[in-house]
Amino acid sequence: MSTILVTGGAGYIGSHMCVELLQAGHEVVVLDNLSNSSARSLEAVERITQRSLHFHEVDVRDTDALRKIFATYELESVLHFAGLKAVGESVSEPASYYDNNVVGSLRLVEAMMEAGVHNLVFSSSATVYGMPEEMPITESFQTGPINPYGQTKLHVEQMLTDIAGSNPDWRISLLRYFNPVGAHASGEIGENPNGIPNNLVPFISQVAVGRRPHLNVFSDDYPTPDGTGIRDYIHVVDLVRGHMKALEFLRRNPGIHVHNLGTGRGYSVLEMIRAFEAASGRQVEYRVVERRPGDAAVSYADPAKAERELGWKAEFGIERMCEDVWRWQSHYPNGFDAADSP
Ligand code: NAD
Ligand code: UDP
Repeated sequence: MSTILVTGGAGYIGSHMCVELLQAGHEVVVLDNLSNSSARSLEAVERITQRSLHFHEVDVRDTDALRKIFATYELESVLHFAGLKAVGESVSEPASYYDNNVVGSLRLVEAMMEAGVHNLVFSSSATVYGMPEEMPITESFQTGPINPYGQTKLHVEQMLTDIAGSNPDWRISLLRYFNPVGAHASGEIGENPNGIPNNLVPFISQVAVGRRPHLNVFSDDYPTPDGTGIRDYIHVVDLVRGHMKALEFLRRNPGIHVHNLGTGRGYSVLEMIRAFEAASGRQVEYRVVERRPGDAAVSYADPAKAERELGWKAEFGIERMCEDVWRWQSHYPNGFDAADSP
């Protein structure tokens, strides 16, 4: 078993990653500045797994703190989730996105080089593809992000490609996620957005639990069967299992590799609303409003490369995604740190 550093491990995807790693018997070291999360997610991870992890409240841009962490543990691999992820905010505060995402990744890679740790999995995003016309999206599609968030992801991919090219010891996996949703089956960890959710499923779930009066559906005039946007929603547990497979793949394959993590199937906004209503037994009020600028009509992955090379395939469908989100949302209606949370 190995010792693995998870940056951003207190966050939504990172906390699910920690559960999977601990359950597989690995030692887990988490680094997170808690800018978008709560340490209570890590307590929940320990409750679920009945194991403990090592947590450092540290910024990934803090070179001295990174040095200490690399000196303290015999790290085999790094899973790099830390970063900012809100598309709209990246338009109004681009410098902060370049700083956290690009500079943060650079500082991390420098610390890895200094410590002689060369195995890295990076959280990239389907946003690097911009707005392709053809579907499904394969890894060979041209990249062309249309917002600063996507640009930061592409910059990091390019930086890591150059770094991997400079030294054959590097083993780097770039994972381009489609739309992660869902929660751990225990209902103990899940997505806990600050403020008004930007993404569809957390918004639907907050309407179902009564925190918001209705969902705005961003138009029903797209060229899709019901007129609403189509996305490739992937269960967060499937997603983190893809990372476990990527770690195994890197043990056999040096160099840098890119894989889409999606299901290969798209669902519309109205289909997601219906699935959530069925899972929760609650009605989800919605109103159709104008399009959100920058939204593609349709986006879904071709996950064949991940299946072929990583031996990974998503297992859970939207019913299970919605059931798990609902279990989490009804358990923590106002998030981890709210006064009414258990
Ligand atoms: P999240 O915000 O829940 O988790 C990110 C974590 O990183 C948070 O705990 C935050 O406190 C921490 N963090 C942010 N900046 C940091 C810094 N400078 N130093 C240390 N910690 C820092 O987000 P998530 O949904 O779990 O996303 C994880 C990763 O996956 C991100 O890199 C994100 O861009 C990427 N991603 C997410 C999605 C998605 O829809 N959730 C899609 C594609 C890619
Ligand atoms: N969407 C919506 N109302 C919302 C949030 C999202 O109708 O409040 C739609 C959005 O237009 C898109 C889909 O839901 O078609 C998924 O949006 P999300 O922001 O979750 O993912 P992304 O667009 O980044 O893939």
